[in-house]
Amino acid sequence: MEVKSEKKVGENPEKTEEKNNMTGQNTLIKFDHISRIYQMGAETIRALDDISLTIHVNDYISIMGPSGSGKSTLMNIIGCLDTPTSGVYQFEDEIVCDMNSEKIIKMNDNQLASIRNKKIGFVFQTFNLLPRATAFQNVELPLIYAGIPRHERREKVLKALKDVSLADRSTHTPSELSGGQRQRVAIARALVNSPSIILADEPTGNLDSETSREIMVFLDELHRLNNTVIIVTHEPDIAAHAHRMIHILDGKIDRDEINHQKIKNPVNV
Ligand code: ADP
Ligand code: MG
Repeated sequence: MEVKSEKKVGENPEKTEEKNNMTGQNTLIKFDHISRIYQMGAETIRALDDISLTIHVNDYISIMGPSGSGKSTLMNIIGCLDTPTSGVYQFEDEIVCDMNSEKIIKMNDNQLASIRNKKIGFVFQTFNLLPRATAFQNVELPLIYAGIPRHERREKVLKALKDVSLADRSTHTPSELSGGQRQRVAIARALVNSPSIILADEPTGNLDSETSREIMVFLDELHRLNNTVIIVTHEPDIAAHAHRMIHILDGKIDRDEINHQKIKNPVNV
């Protein structure tokens, strides 16, 4: 598959402007001493253990670490699907939760849902598409949740499907699509709201290596068009697409490094 130079996968003009106005790197997400502890009877599991982390607008980050190291817990907290047990989480200029203050500050369920629906695009290993709905209907779903009127939805959905080269598959259901095409529908669904960040948890985990490369071309392109992208992966060659690589071990950040190879040769995908 080929990405043409004029391609506008998920381009967000507002974000381009925002970026151009920046003097330095804009902070998108801030974790301040975040922990997520599970109490299982007598056993205390520190799924995340005192993580402090700043994510900037237009970062392209891969998160790696062994099974059970806390990667999904981290993504779930970033994605406002879970709340930490201590620490402060800030998204753009809003405090999502401050579990440290004397009176705990926490967004309510409606506020969290609003961030998830409007600001975060999720891509999952298992695609998570509705099996009986068409590609069009699957991509339309976040717009319905966000209360976008029908006539505006149609245009946005068709553009998102076009951006992932699936304009001619809008009436197909997932079972009528290949694995790579399903994941592209999921990417279109993640993009359709012009989110502030795209979170992909093992997006290539169910795909063969050729199809994985195809998906990574789209994620690279999304980043190039000023989106902020985080990918969790087990595979070093997938992680190497990112410009910043974070390694998690036992709920802590073990390493957080710049991918010099990628920064030096940004077009050498
Ligand atoms: P990863 O995605 O890196 O495989 P997870 O974030 O899923 O790791 O899990 C981190 C740790 O937290 C693991 O030890 C896991 O068993 C534990 N954990 C995750 N979710 C729960 C839960 N709902 N209840 C209890 N323990 C959990
Ligand atoms: Mg996981």
